Amino acid sequence: MEFQNRKEPSLSEIDVAHHLHPFANTKEYREQGVRVITGGDGVYVIDSSGRRYLDAFAGLWCVNVGYGRREIADAVHAQMISLAYYNTFFGTTTEPTARLAERIVKLAGPDMSHVFFTNSGSEANDTWLRMARLYWTSKGMPNRKIVISRQNSYHGSTIAGASLGGMRHMHEQGDLPIPGIVHIGQPYWYAEGGGLMPDQFGILRARELEEKILELGPENVAAFVAEPVQGTGGVIVPPETYWPEILRICRKYDILLAVDEVITGFGRTGSWFGYQHYGLRPDFCSVAKGLSSGYQPIAAVIVSGRVADAMAHEGGVFQHGFTYSGHPCAAAAALANLNILEREDLVGKIQRDLGPYFAKALHSLNDLAIVGETQAIGLLGSVQLVLDKNKRLRFSKPSDIGMIVRNFCMERDLIVRASQDRILLAPAFVITHEQIDTIIATLRAVLIEIV
Ligand code: PLP
Repeated sequence: MEFQNRKEPSLSEIDVAHHLHPFANTKEYREQGVRVITGGDGVYVIDSSGRRYLDAFAGLWCVNVGYGRREIADAVHAQMISLAYYNTFFGTTTEPTARLAERIVKLAGPDMSHVFFTNSGSEANDTWLRMARLYWTSKGMPNRKIVISRQNSYHGSTIAGASLGGMRHMHEQGDLPIPGIVHIGQPYWYAEGGGLMPDQFGILRARELEEKILELGPENVAAFVAEPVQGTGGVIVPPETYWPEILRICRKYDILLAVDEVITGFGRTGSWFGYQHYGLRPDFCSVAKGLSSGYQPIAAVIVSGRVADAMAHEGGVFQHGFTYSGHPCAAAAALANLNILEREDLVGKIQRDLGPYFAKALHSLNDLAIVGETQAIGLLGSVQLVLDKNKRLRFSKPSDIGMIVRNFCMERDLIVRASQDRILLAPAFVITHEQIDTIIATLRAVLIEIV
């Protein structure tokens, strides 16, 4: 009978029939299907065919304490049973929400005093943008509205997040950026250094901020935003001179500094926050991924005392918030995640041991002709692919070479990410030396095979 012979659709078929994926070419997905990931354990994930992959990208730079942490699941379970949800809008809070805010502020250091919770990094960036404008209005300077960001930065996918971001392909699709957001150059020395030494280039790129402020008029500028280390743009570690000069300029013109630490926050660089690594004193710090290691969707803006005080004294109602701001179950997951990070001293281990080991292993790839440069900070790394190393000639289709390397790695059971012609690595903090060696040996084999 016909219906007995009908084959049940696979999960991949069901998925592509009904699920629209983020940043995906839907036509390609329909033709090629998707891989169904069914399990995770430490730094490994398993797909529906039982194949095991070493995930050198921690999901999406987020599963920092590794997969399969029962302690976090138990904390969320217990919270769901006692109080699954309550809002934080009308003069109420919940225990995990309050405790998490206190805990984050302690880690963030003395300048930071408050936390505003959101569900995603994009929303965190939307949030501080509105807060920065409210701050200046409360200070009697309502014209200070413009935010300066950087080309090739990534700050999320909401309309404001994508506008703050400097990704041209995102702007082109959405008539972006929205008014009031402008972009300056990025500190991408390898590709844009133009023969300068890294330190000279770092100063030059930072001074673009000063030029832009003067062009716009300091009285119209609210804030400057950047990732301490550009992530999605290619794990671009700025020259040493870059951040001190940016800091000097922000102070000189009294511009608020917003750091987007959605990737770098909670230990990835070997410091709790990237701004601590670079000695910055931001007014806003967006965090997400590493806050709960991806076990629950939760994000936040950490806010400086001066901004929080201005809001308390002169700001009136902040007309902004999300139903799930400070969701108790997500907050419980984040607290359990922070317990693990602290108890196992995972950030200290990156600083003392894993970071230097990872950097040395990654830099060993520099002997290959296809590798233009490697960059590493903490457990964040990138490999710049080049057509001609001596001439610094890049591939004519940078995204193609990146995808080829990524796909070859996948065939060898290694998950990495490509951003144009840079291969990005961000393994979980529980990675071992041996597993780092496997990542680098696999990458080496792939890079040798494709040339
Ligand atoms: N900011 C940075 C630096 C990010 O890397 C990301 C996501 O990768 C975001 C913001 C957006 O976060 P979300 O995807 O949670 O909205």
